Amino acid sequence: MQIEPVLLPDFIRAINETIDKNADEVTALDQEIGDGDHVFNLKRGLHALSEQSTELAGLDWAAALQKIGMILMSTIGGASGSLYGTLFVTMSKTAKGKPMALKTFADAFSQGVESVKSRGRAGAGEKTMLDVLIPVAEKLQASAEADVPLPDLLESLAQTAVQGMESTRDMVATKGRASFLGERTKGHIDAGARTAQLMICSIIDVLSQRSASPS
Ligand code: ADP
Ligand code: MG
Repeated sequence: MQIEPVLLPDFIRAINETIDKNADEVTALDQEIGDGDHVFNLKRGLHALSEQSTELAGLDWAAALQKIGMILMSTIGGASGSLYGTLFVTMSKTAKGKPMALKTFADAFSQGVESVKSRGRAGAGEKTMLDVLIPVAEKLQASAEADVPLPDLLESLAQTAVQGMESTRDMVATKGRASFLGERTKGHIDAGARTAQLMICSIIDVLSQRSASPS
């Protein structure tokens, strides 16, 4: 299955729906160890993407990813705004001039996640969105290299995202606002990890439905 930017409106719609549906739960998580604004910040960015979704669908991947990054950077705010902005702008640079085969996408996503690590000066195990993004990037790379069939790949990516999100529960936050609470962050899932997982899983759902019913 070829994945083209024409699918972006479907992805954006699915992501908006899942964040709306889970907004109260995520806000409760963020109120426990953050300042409670994470969903509000994210929604501002996702709403801006919805408004531009027709235009995004008409661009090539590099241009679409660049535009997504710029929109997110200027609308989300908070720590997550610059981190998501960096993710997509770096993905755009890696994808430039190449057809978007799975391996190219995996490389672009991995480079994007590397740039989030540098921008946030953070790594795995610090109780952030990176505890979802890093294992998903690694699984995607490994699956692209091993030529795993698409339905299996999608299922294992979704499982990896959920495991990553759940793994933040037992971690002590060492980055971002939550780090001020230190040991008291144990026992709470990180809100940014939860939204990263929800967004990744909603894209996977769209792709699973398409691969099950080829048009
Ligand atoms: P803020 O913390 O500025 O209010 P948000 O509420 O929008 O920003 O986002 C908080 C989320 O951002 C956290 O739950 C965490 O997942 C993520 N985050 C915070 N700091 C970092 C960092 N240095 N590296 C990676 N992710 C981070
Ligand atoms: Mg916040």
